Amino acid sequence: MKYAPYSSSRLDSATCGYLFYHTYVEPRVDRKKIRSLPQDRGSAVHEILEYMAKAYKKDINHPFFTVPAESRYTKPKPTEEMQKAIQDAVNLYPASYQQIDVLESCAATFARRRLDIIDEETGVELMLAVKREGDTFVQCDFDDKEAIMRGKIDLLFFSDDAKGATIVDHKTQMNIEEADTFQMGVYAWLTSKCHPWLEEIESSLYFAQFGVHSEPVVWDKDDLARMEGEILSRIDIVESRTNWDPCPNHNCQYCDLVAECPALTNLVEVDKEKGLVMIKDDNVAILGDTNKAVYIAQMIKVLETYVNAARKTLRDHVKEFGPISIPGTLYEHRAKTELDWKKANKIRWDLKKMLVDSGVDPVEYMGFSATFSKGLALIDNDKLRKELFEKIPKKTSTTFKGYKM
Ligand code: SF4
Repeated sequence: MKYAPYSSSRLDSATCGYLFYHTYVEPRVDRKKIRSLPQDRGSAVHEILEYMAKAYKKDINHPFFTVPAESRYTKPKPTEEMQKAIQDAVNLYPASYQQIDVLESCAATFARRRLDIIDEETGVELMLAVKREGDTFVQCDFDDKEAIMRGKIDLLFFSDDAKGATIVDHKTQMNIEEADTFQMGVYAWLTSKCHPWLEEIESSLYFAQFGVHSEPVVWDKDDLARMEGEILSRIDIVESRTNWDPCPNHNCQYCDLVAECPALTNLVEVDKEKGLVMIKDDNVAILGDTNKAVYIAQMIKVLETYVNAARKTLRDHVKEFGPISIPGTLYEHRAKTELDWKKANKIRWDLKKMLVDSGVDPVEYMGFSATFSKGLALIDNDKLRKELFEKIPKKTSTTFKGYKM
């Protein structure tokens, strides 16, 4: 096989010929990895949950938070060990540094919602691989040169009668989905090949940001046979592929080739002499042409991914080296002080008293729910308005953007 060992993500990346070609057919040695937040955040959370699950195998009550994670009223405090595990994960996946709070909250949620069936027998971060042997597939080492399909399974539990197994995959995405995806089918199939005595395999997704599990999906022998057919036919298609054109898809957000993606260069052209980037006019007129509309939508997807990556790089540069300007626009970080409406809500009774003492009906400005209202700005009493706004707590925040000059 030309492009084995396959995995569900390798087969998935074949959706875009350009990405697959430069990753697996002719991997470029000079290729620099662009770290993206979604990708690094996902990998960092995986790393942390793996660390925790391994500790829970030995002791399901292993303390990772000083205030128990079960506490509903006090924010759990990570132990030194937990902090170190988070730091290690950030070091491995640096873009996740932007969301350390999300990493910590995923860890706290996992500690609170951990499956109490985790024990010494539980498989954690299992690296499964299979190779062909005659008409069938058998387990092999993950690094076996003959391996055809591989996968890493976050958690694997066997049922007490050893006839069934449950596999759990950790997800950091925001959208909840069912556990019947191609990826879970591949994991169930790999598990069935490595443990051929299993009669059925249940798959489930754990959404780390919410702490919820999806409804389990059961893969019986017929489902697994169908899955095998799908995997082999996808592999056949990739092995015989000759077209390596880009095909924008949901993976663009993780793609490190975005800055050179031909789908992007179809949309814009660069005048190297003048240093200008221009949208190709003839490419954006689509009225009435549905095929072209789809084509433009694909290019916009790549462009948006590129703009997000470029904006982040620009923000980091300006933070370190100071503002930059182009005609008409200044890019800089500006600190601004604004009213903190959240904290204002906490002193609403003081504010209400000020209104009442000045003969103003608080209902008109503070709402029937007694929630503090921004309508205070409308009070027709300059002195009172000034006093109220002096009383309201302030907060300072920094915004990065291009300001008009
Ligand atoms: S940005 Fe999207 S279309 Fe372009 S190479 Fe990457 S995955 Fe393919």
